[in-house]
Amino acid sequence: MIIQSINPFSQQVIGEHEVLTNLQLQNKLKIAENAFKFWRKSVFQERADKMRNLALVLRKNKEDLALLITNEMGKIISESISEVEKSADNCDFYANHAEQMLKDEYYDTPFKSMSVYDPLGAVFAIMPWNYPFWQVLRYAAPTVMAGNVTILKHASNVTGCAKAIENAFLEAGFAEGIFQQITIDKSQIENVIDSTIVQGITLTGSEAAGSSVASIAGRHIKKTVMELGGSDAFIVLDDANLEKAASVAAHSRMLNAGQACICAKRFIVTEKVADEFVSLFAKNIKMLRQGDPLQKDVHIGPLARLDLAETLAKQLAKTVKQGGKLLLGGEYENCNFQPTLIDFVGVTSVAFQEETFGPLATVTRAKNEEEAIVIANNHRYGLAAAIWTEDRDRAYNLSRKIEAGNVFVNSLVRSDSRIPFGGIKKSGYGRELGEKGIKEFMNMKSIIIE
Ligand code: NDP
Repeated sequence: MIIQSINPFSQQVIGEHEVLTNLQLQNKLKIAENAFKFWRKSVFQERADKMRNLALVLRKNKEDLALLITNEMGKIISESISEVEKSADNCDFYANHAEQMLKDEYYDTPFKSMSVYDPLGAVFAIMPWNYPFWQVLRYAAPTVMAGNVTILKHASNVTGCAKAIENAFLEAGFAEGIFQQITIDKSQIENVIDSTIVQGITLTGSEAAGSSVASIAGRHIKKTVMELGGSDAFIVLDDANLEKAASVAAHSRMLNAGQACICAKRFIVTEKVADEFVSLFAKNIKMLRQGDPLQKDVHIGPLARLDLAETLAKQLAKTVKQGGKLLLGGEYENCNFQPTLIDFVGVTSVAFQEETFGPLATVTRAKNEEEAIVIANNHRYGLAAAIWTEDRDRAYNLSRKIEAGNVFVNSLVRSDSRIPFGGIKKSGYGRELGEKGIKEFMNMKSIIIE
């Protein structure tokens, strides 16, 4: 069986990748098992040296790697370069901080008592195509620094990126088996989860994929971390700096052609400032040019696959039928979707209820601050949210009322190596990044000495 990489802008096949046979897959699992035997005993210094090498390898090859990202999934080339740089920075961050994060913890007891953090085995990662380097390095750098090994099943459309990441690990000096990518069919996923060496599963992707993998993992009593969909609220209150809010709103919705779990998707604006905000928001969106992701003056590339554009078009059509007022865009051809803005979107309409994965912004008007929070929380997802107000105390109090894993005030929602990141409700569970993230797949072993 062959998996193809298709350039979403040109629609040309740019790579063909053979799926592993079950025998080849078992061999990969054996390699991981052997690698774990020595990697678990390695010291932090050795792990950190190699992780810093990996950062260097990524930076040295960033132009080529960025081109691969753009060719496989369509994001504009400047965003691809930033993605590789951010991934390299994340490697340095964990090289510098993992040892401190995983130090023994002592308790105040009449006898000696402590927690130590031991690696568990292989972490199996199922990752998406939207940030094909960042999503992988985000989990892989802490995983490997903690003494675990890892096996990656990347999204099929970015198999070239998966192979390039494995090559970068090898070039950095990591022995075979510490990081392996496997090209498999979904029917082979249970074989991986069932294997003794796999002791944890991390998945970033859709709710459907998360639900399926979590059920399999549950059957095999394996811990999971799930980073699933989001429909982040971007709340604009009466006293917000509207110029800045509108500019960040356009960026937050349209970056990566709107294909990020933490893109702002539901713009909830209080009635008093709604007209002015919408007009500024539209002005910012109009400045964005959609097209060839390799051209410097293009801001929005194609969507990653044809089916994603078709799904978005259906969500748009239904929302307009349900009373949404189309202000900008709406047209698409193949994977090229024009930046789109709909106003007066009701809370029961499709674009409000479902995750929209593309350059489609919706505005919902709220009577006041209280209603804005109720509308924001009235959702199945709870990944992140942004609040715009000039009153910092009020912002803090409102942040505490938001049902999401992350709240940003007067800023773009983004992930940061130093700060735990993850969601609640149908956006998943568990945390990546920061100290909490690195500890997700560890044996926190209590030792008591009388
Ligand atoms: P998927 O969730 O289908 O893909 C993400 C990863 O999960 C891929 O590696 C995929 O493999 C794998 N996968 C899919 N289904 C299963 C399954 N049943 N069992 C095991 N693994 C599975 O995302 P899509 O690409 O289809 O995108 C659809 C929607 O998902 C988007 O519109 C968006 O709403 C959401 N999404 C959210 C992301 C996020 O960052 N939170 C990222 C990507 C998507 P394969 O490629 O082989 O199908």
